[in-house]
Amino acid sequence: MSTSDNKITIGVLAVQGAFIEHEHMLQSLGVDCIEIRKPEQLDQIDGIVLPGGESTVQGQLLRKLHMLSPLRKMIQNGLPVLATCAGLILLSEEIDNGEPAHLATLPVTVKRNAYGRQLGSFCTTSDLPQISGFPMVFIRAPYIASTQESVKVLGTVDGHVIAVQYKHQIGLSFHPELTDDTRIHQYFVEMVRGTAKSNIA
Ligand code: GLN
Repeated sequence: MSTSDNKITIGVLAVQGAFIEHEHMLQSLGVDCIEIRKPEQLDQIDGIVLPGGESTVQGQLLRKLHMLSPLRKMIQNGLPVLATCAGLILLSEEIDNGEPAHLATLPVTVKRNAYGRQLGSFCTTSDLPQISGFPMVFIRAPYIASTQESVKVLGTVDGHVIAVQYKHQIGLSFHPELTDDTRIHQYFVEMVRGTAKSNIA
């Protein structure tokens, strides 16, 4: 964990979905944010948040706005990412119903709308490494059906993987931005601070 005072800017993908809540949470931690809607804005950021929403729509918009391939390259080159819900689906290498993958930088298989219609939305509390009792809000959420060996499982709920980390990529099934608990965003900010120099170099 870095205690550096490096000034960092975090981009929040803002083509669709719940991006404002991430911005508010990051701003409450004193971090500058940019809403990302154009490929040229990607040059200004040290990390990116991929919010929840509708992954099919977000994937289409990323393609239409010519951001899919530059963003994929930046993530492959080390740009830190915090991906929640639909964002996790965008990152995943494989979607279990055979839909084409989007950024495909996170070596997991994800199952969309994995909790069915009746249990589409629910809240629970579970532990993550170093973060105990985190309140988790699930909204028509995916879970991670399988992971490659190099992926670290950070948390499970009811036997399903709902949080992973692979190098500088964090993927979550739930919405930490819809709670008052800033610990995951704080962890991400520390991760970005630790790698900020190499990303802007
Ligand atoms: N069900 C959405 C999807 O498949 C994800 C829901 C969310 O982001 N809360 O893209």
